[in-house]
Amino acid sequence: MNKPLPQTADFHKSPFKAGDRSVLQELTAKKALEITQSLQTTLDPSRLIEIFSAEVGALVVHQGLSYRNDDIGLDLKLGRQARHSCAYHLNIGDEPLGTLTFRRNQKFTDSEIEALEQLLCSLLYPLRNGLLYEDALQLAQKDPLTGICNRAALDEMLQRELSHAQRKDAALSLLVLDIDHFKNINDRYGHIVGDCALKAIANMVSTCKRDGDLLFRYGGEEFVVLMRDTDLAGARLLAERIRGYIAENACNCSGAELDVTVSIGVSELKANDTPISLFSRADQALYRAKKNGRNQVCIAADA
Ligand code: GH3
Ligand code: MG
Ligand code: MG
Repeated sequence: MNKPLPQTADFHKSPFKAGDRSVLQELTAKKALEITQSLQTTLDPSRLIEIFSAEVGALVVHQGLSYRNDDIGLDLKLGRQARHSCAYHLNIGDEPLGTLTFRRNQKFTDSEIEALEQLLCSLLYPLRNGLLYEDALQLAQKDPLTGICNRAALDEMLQRELSHAQRKDAALSLLVLDIDHFKNINDRYGHIVGDCALKAIANMVSTCKRDGDLLFRYGGEEFVVLMRDTDLAGARLLAERIRGYIAENACNCSGAELDVTVSIGVSELKANDTPISLFSRADQALYRAKKNGRNQVCIAADA
């Protein structure tokens, strides 16, 4: 995402002239204090970088700034590309905090680089707090066994996707998948192998789905896939693909080759649906699939 930089980040408005080192040092110390205060207003890493860029821009002007942190999946781009860049791999001790790159068309002077490095010290601890907070938020939405999104994430995303689809008059479908006779696997091979099978099934569903489809672990051996911009025909195709793939491929767990099958219920969003009504129709279809003999896909009666 490219966001414009605030007006202060215009090279021609720089209050500082190259060579005027002692003035810059004084201004830098003052700015460092201001930055410390400004960064106390948020824990959102993107917002911290935006504030930092705006504050620094009043002193060391830049036309663009980017921040990348793969650990939390953040790739933020502010302003625009420019000829020169100045990049920093931020760390506290051994702990990496991402890479920050300043860009502008005019070369950065030594004094400006010195100022930048001093100001960066004011960013490090607030940024680390923000990253820890973001990490905790992401962790709260993850299932620790399979690494996919959990029930809490489903509740949030289902409401969001449903509102979006209803507003845009777009299609949205949902499938609920339940592993057949899963209790038998635990009883026969033990829970460690059962856990391995759960991970394998999550991986197989991930392999079959498209990038835009969202996969969740709903509970024990139940999974949900939310399919954006997908009508019932498309959802049925995906459900059949998942069912067939799992039926044809064994789960290899601790030397055991497990032949696992799944049953799936599918529903499509209707005008007056709530998250509960959309989910319930797929769940009822799943019960039919179980009743009819398992290893099959059933479409909600009044889809
Ligand atoms: P059905 O075909 O009717 O769905 O039969 P089932 O055996 O799959 O269903 P049932 O609800 O009787 O059993 C679900 C089993 O899933 C029982 C439970 O111990 C197991 N289970 C739930 N969560 C986990 C987990 O995290 N790890 C393991 N290993 N087993 C789990
Ligand atoms: Mg179940
Ligand atoms: Mg089951």
